[in-house]
This record gives sequence, C-alpha cells and structure tokens, in this order.
Amino acid sequence: PRSNLASTLHNLDGRSYGNYKQIRGSYEFGPVTVFIDRVQVDPFASPSKVRIRINRAEAGFPTDITTERADRIAASDFLFRVGDSFLHRNDRRSIILGRPGQEVLERTNVVIDDDGFEARLLVNLPARGRRILGHQAADILTRDVPELAQAMFVHSNLRADGLHEHVQLHRDQLELQNHLGEEGLLAFIGNDSILPRRSGDSDLPMDSHAVAFTSPTSLEHTVTLSSGRSLTGMAIPHGVTVIVGGGYHGKSTILRALERGVYPHIAGDGREWVITEPSATSIRAEDGRAVTGDDISPFINNLPSGTDTGSFTTTNASGSTSQAANLVEAVEVGARSLLIDEDTSATNFMIRDERMRALIPADREPITPFVDRIRPLFSERGVSTVLVAGGSSAFFEVADHVIALDAYVPQEVTEKAHELVGVNPADFASTSPAGSGDDKSDSAGGSSDTFATPRPRIPTAKALRPSSKTKSAKAKGLGQVQFGKAFIDLSAVSQLVDVQQTAGIAEALEYMAEIFDNRTSLTEALAEIDDMLDAQGVDGLTGNRDHPGHVARPRAQEIAAALNRFRGLQLVE
Ligand code: ADP
Ligand code: MG
Repeated sequence: PRSNLASTLHNLDGRSYGNYKQIRGSYEFGPVTVFIDRVQVDPFASPSKVRIRINRAEAGFPTDITTERADRIAASDFLFRVGDSFLHRNDRRSIILGRPGQEVLERTNVVIDDDGFEARLLVNLPARGRRILGHQAADILTRDVPELAQAMFVHSNLRADGLHEHVQLHRDQLELQNHLGEEGLLAFIGNDSILPRRSGDSDLPMDSHAVAFTSPTSLEHTVTLSSGRSLTGMAIPHGVTVIVGGGYHGKSTILRALERGVYPHIAGDGREWVITEPSATSIRAEDGRAVTGDDISPFINNLPSGTDTGSFTTTNASGSTSQAANLVEAVEVGARSLLIDEDTSATNFMIRDERMRALIPADREPITPFVDRIRPLFSERGVSTVLVAGGSSAFFEVADHVIALDAYVPQEVTEKAHELVGVNPADFASTSPAGSGDDKSDSAGGSSDTFATPRPRIPTAKALRPSSKTKSAKAKGLGQVQFGKAFIDLSAVSQLVDVQQTAGIAEALEYMAEIFDNRTSLTEALAEIDDMLDAQGVDGLTGNRDHPGHVARPRAQEIAAALNRFRGLQLVE
C-alpha cells in the first residue's frame, strides 16, 4: 500500500544510505504498480532500478495499435517520448527514462506486452552526504514516479491522435521498405524530404535554408500504400549508382541520409520518407583497426611481406586493407548494398589511373581497386553499391546510374557520363546479380568467380569469454565497448546511432559467448541472435532480466562490426 513506502521513506530520513535497501519490493498506487528491483549502494553508484506497470484494462489503449509486434515498437516509442517530455516539463531530474533520438528504435525502456504497459526507469535516490533524504525520496517514488506512469500509460491522458499517427507512420515506412524489396529497389528518397542536419553535432533537420529534395524525373517513382498515402520520390535501383557533383553541393548529405534510412524516422525529421533496404552498410577506410582472418583476396594480393590475404590478420590495418576488410565483413553478414563516400575512402582502394597502371606493373601492385570489383560484386554476389565520387570519372564506366547534384538538386546524367567514357551501356547494364538467371560475362574485368563464397569464420569459444565476471561487456558511450580488459573502438561505425544500441552490442557479445562452441560460424551466431530478437524482443538479449536497463536493438551489421574489431578475436583453424 501507498502509505507503506511513503512512511518507510519518511522514517529513513537522516539514516545512512545503505538503509535504502529496505525499500526493495513492489508497491501499488491505484492502477500503477511500482517495482523497486535494485537499490544503489551509495549515492555515486549507478542509479537504482525501478519499473512502473499498468494492466491493459486500466491503461485503456485500443488493441488495434498495440497488438502487432511492429505496432508495439512504434507505440512504445511514442509513450517513451511522452514520458521524456513529461519528465522535462516537470524537471524531474532524479528519474531517468532515457533520451529518444530522431529514429524509432526497438528499446527496453518502454514495453507493451499482452498483459500491460511497462517502463523501466533509473532513479537516483537522494542523499545529503551519505545520509538518506527520506522526505524527498518519498516525493520521488510515491508521487513523481506514479504520476509519470499516469501520464504515459493511461490512454485518456494522452493526445491519442498523435499516438495513432505515430503508429501509422511507422506502418507506412515498413510497408514502403517491403515495397522496395519487392520492386528490386535499394532506396527511396521522397520529394520534399529535408536531408541536411542543423549542424555537425545535431541530428535535427536544418531549419530555414534547407533545399527540399526533388527527384530527377527519370528516377521518379510513385507508390500508393495501403493506408491510402501516396508518395513520389527518387527510387535508387539495385546495381551501381554513382553520385557526382561539385564540392559542397550536397553529395555526402544524401549518402548520410541513405545510411540512416535503414531506421524509421519520426514525423517532422525531414527523413520520414528516406527508406533504405535494411541491410545497407556504410563502408569506409579505418586505418589502425584490427582484422582477424578476413578473406580480402578479391582486393589485395601478393603483399610484399608475403602475408596471406585469403585469411588476413593484422593488429594495424592500412587505409586500403581496412576498407577491404570492412567491405568483406559487411558482405559476410549479408549486406545487400554498400554505401561509400569518397570523403572517407582510401584513394588507392577505390581507383588507379592509367598512368599509374603503366608505371607500376600489375604484379607489383597488391591492390585491385574497387572500381574493378564493383561489378563482379553485383553480378556474382548480388551486392549493390551507392558511391559518392566527385573527384574521378573512373566509376562512369561501371555505373548503371550517375546522379549529379547541382546546388543540392539531383539530375540523372548517366547517358552523358557513359558517352564521355565511350561506354555502351549494353556492355554491362544487363548484368544480372547472381542466381537471377542469365549471367552475362562482365566487361569490368575479373574472373567469373572473384567473390567465391569465402570459408566461414568460426570464432573460438575461449576468445569470447575474456573474463570470468558475470558481465564482461559494457558500453562506454556511443563509440566504444569494453569487453573484458579490451576496448572495442566503434567510432568509425557510422550506422550506430544511439548509445543504447551500443549497450545492445555489449549484451549481444555476452549472448554470443553462449553460442560459440568452436563449431558455430560468426554468420550463424548473428542469424541466431536476429531470430531470437524477432521472437523475444530486446529483453531476450538481456536474458529477460526483470529490469534490463536501457538497451536498444542493434542490427546484425553493427554487432558483427564490434566482434570484428575485437582485438582478442581468434578463429578456429
Ligand atoms: P559534398 O559532399 O558534396 O561536398 P555536403 O553534403 O558535405 O557536400 O554538403 C555541404 C554543405 O551543404 C553542408 O554544410 C550541408 O549541411 C549543406 N547542405 C547539404 N544539402 C543541403 C540542402 N539540401 N539544403 C541546404 N543545405 C544543404
Ligand atoms: Mg562530401
């Protein structure tokens, strides 16, 4: 009963902090149940774990938007945002619900299940020095926390049309993504989208000066969704698409929007209708990273050191070898498309010009540049590329589509680009991806099986158990995971967008330690995790602890990115 917790806390006022542990347990406040799952041992320890829960009947939400799995993700996200703004409006600083960003992610913070609605909070229990502030604690736990639950979870307290629109937008975005898959399209950018961001450190839309997106007519595609919503914009087909244009004309901004388009965005973001196929992966150079047993031989061979590039290992990759490793690792976990920007690429990985080919004999150059591999990658493995290249015409010959940006406005210039390099598009444009029928030989060089399916990489079980502690992996901000004594640097993994995904990666590393048995390959383990996540949600990743903390679902690509950058990774021979 309410009075219980309040009077306990009043009685604890002024006593030493450790006495807070008495309040563990569950308490009823009208329709709201407050669970105090874990109590911090001192004022500086990580905050206490508290859950709030309301039964379905008391919450009164319509079942049509809270039953399907995808709808629950969107509705949870909406309630998460309601809770966040409630806490800010009322300046409730002791209560931490987590910070929503521009994407709708599957999270543990707010969950909807068959029985009801639950939020997982972190609460800093107040102290003066090391003494309990009992009256304040009573206000927080017996007034503020139940009020938050009332604000989030009682349907009649919400602006319910907002909830409905949020869920419907998410449905439409997923339907559009499925539609892209069915039509063989890689991505869609709706007309009127706002792609640029406010600043380099803000993910909010640029305000007044942004030039809204307009599709070139030749790539324009219209789709009418089952909700009745009709969208027109630029459709990027699978294959090779090259984005050109003068410096500062918006090339990288488009690519970055496509990168983020693997996640759905909230209304008002400007990228609501930028949708990319879900496995699309950004590839960049990342010198200094570790590589363990990658087959980078399609790109790099005959290193002067004699190192085997069919199973390439290094503690300190160069620009080109790191980019090759990033690429083959993305393909290994099933990326169907690659997003590459010249700004973050190693030039010698991407191209080599005629004079250089004349000066340095092929057998003295270990690198086969990406320009020679981009078409076999598509024809043999069905992997598409969207590439930003403003500084070289080398990719004209291998592009299905060339899009030029002029003051942020795209135009298709494929014919002109092909004319300039004397290419007959029929030479390659009909090359179909592997398995889809008539495989014609490729004009862009390379034998017919440059990308023979590489040997599966099987991590040793031992390497994935770097410490005997119960928890050996922990997120350290957005771009770093501590795993045992090692630190995994994820700062170059640009599609990691929320620190809670990094926490999810840490959980996944722990989870994987259970899967690896010296027989299971990396791709099998990742597929197993994805299946589990589809079935159980993010709670499953944390072993369904009562209070899992604040975790979001990472993509298989980003989990693999962490594992691949782990310097302690070892493979079964
Ligand atoms: P590029 O890669 O072609 O050199 P960027 O994409 O880096 O160009 O963009 C250059 C600048 O223009 C950035 O500051 C970006 O925010 C801004 N910008 C990009 N697209 C737009 C747009 N559609 N409207 C207004 N500003 C834009
Ligand atoms: Mg750029």
